[in-house]
Amino acid sequence: MTFDAVVVGARVAGSPTAMLLARRGHRVLVLDRATFPSDTLSTNLIHVPGMALLERWGLRAAVESAGAPPHRRFTMDFGPFVIAGPPPAVDGAEHPYCVRRTVLDAILVGAARDAGAEVREGVTVEGLLRDGDGRVTGVHGAGFEARARIVIGADGLRSVVAREAGAEKYDDGPSLTACYYAYYRGLEGLGAEIYQRGDRAVVLFPTNDGLTCVFVACPAAQLPEFRADVEGNYLEAIGRIPSVAARIGAAERAERIRATADVPNFFRRCAGPGWALVGDAGYHKDPCLAAGITDAFASAQLLADAVHSGLAGERDLDDAVAAYAAARDERFAPALALTRQLASMEPPDEQTAALFAAIAASPEQTSRFFGMMQGSSPIPEFFAPDNIARIMSATG
Ligand SMILES: Cc1cc2nc3c(=O)[nH]c(=O)nc-3n(C[C@H](O)[C@H](O)[C@H](O)COP(=O)(O)OP(=O)(O)OC[C@H]3O[C@@H](n4cnc5c(N)ncnc54)[C@H](O)[C@@H]3O)c2cc1C
Repeated sequence: MTFDAVVVGARVAGSPTAMLLARRGHRVLVLDRATFPSDTLSTNLIHVPGMALLERWGLRAAVESAGAPPHRRFTMDFGPFVIAGPPPAVDGAEHPYCVRRTVLDAILVGAARDAGAEVREGVTVEGLLRDGDGRVTGVHGAGFEARARIVIGADGLRSVVAREAGAEKYDDGPSLTACYYAYYRGLEGLGAEIYQRGDRAVVLFPTNDGLTCVFVACPAAQLPEFRADVEGNYLEAIGRIPSVAARIGAAERAERIRATADVPNFFRRCAGPGWALVGDAGYHKDPCLAAGITDAFASAQLLADAVHSGLAGERDLDDAVAAYAAARDERFAPALALTRQLASMEPPDEQTAALFAAIAASPEQTSRFFGMMQGSSPIPEFFAPDNIARIMSATG
């Protein structure tokens, strides 16, 4: 059987793409070497625009009732000033949530199946099939082949589809941070708490089952010394915020510390004849903005719209996915630049510190700032000189 689309990878990029195509009547096969439910190396924040897409897809209630509390408040604490308040609502979605990937990804896989996609778990794709002109026509692995009009790589950072398609990287840069996180029981909190103390970031994300994810990042250059005593350095970073250290001291660690320093920042060319990439496979970045899941949802919607128009004969399929690639870059290039800036973990210069202090003093600007950080308002607009001047003059 030839499918309309084969999607490799069934997590936050792959399953929504498959679901959206299957709902439009296309024959979709999803392959993942993992079986679900299963965890992956990631903390769990879904920003409000991500919740809005779940609402559009009819999945918000399922995600919101999966046992994680709403984050009614965001706190970004730089020491001398604190930006705190609720992030702005988007299309009826009000709060961010941190849902464990064991739970979130299983909901998405189920939604793809419910939509009519065939999902095969525990299946590893090893390479691509091509026709005589070099056009991608399917995938293969141990003992199987599957043919499709388009192959979609939603297979993450080390995408086999990207490698086999020859998708080159651009705007490519190395990992800037090393990340460590663990889950604690018994930490009360109203929402996401993000602290920057010197060359450490400490983040608290309440999630399912009464657990809170406690994340610590240090500059990648310090990886060897951090790694030499992970436990000591993790607790030292937390100890830089005495109020948080006291709460964590009274809580119980429920899971081991997990770590990665493999968080490079790049785009990959994400479309070619018979193939496309979505999610981390095509756009990877440091997790400092906690945007990978929300961005994967947005890209899934963009790609599914494009592929549908091609499969339905409304336009040439290759032209449609090329337009998706251009739209993706235009949308996410400012976020990639901001990510690099934040992940450098440089302390804010005098001008930025004054701007942050002005934002912190105004509930309206705080809401606009969180709107920009969560991706619901354009980054370039927020940092435009006339807007900065307006913020500074409003607070005198
Ligand atoms: C430490 C850390 C913290 C993070 N915290 C956040 C956060 O709080 N919020 C947020 O939004 N983002 C966060 N992210 C980013 C987020 O995890 C990713 O952006 C997101 O998981 C990307 O989803 P994806 O579906 O594109 O890829 P993945 O989640 O990587 O899924 C890829 C899937 O493809 C499958 N696969 C791979 N190769 C093959 C193959 N050859 N054959 C078959 N299947 C294959 C894998 O089994 C996997 O299931 C974090 C990342 C890190 C590293």
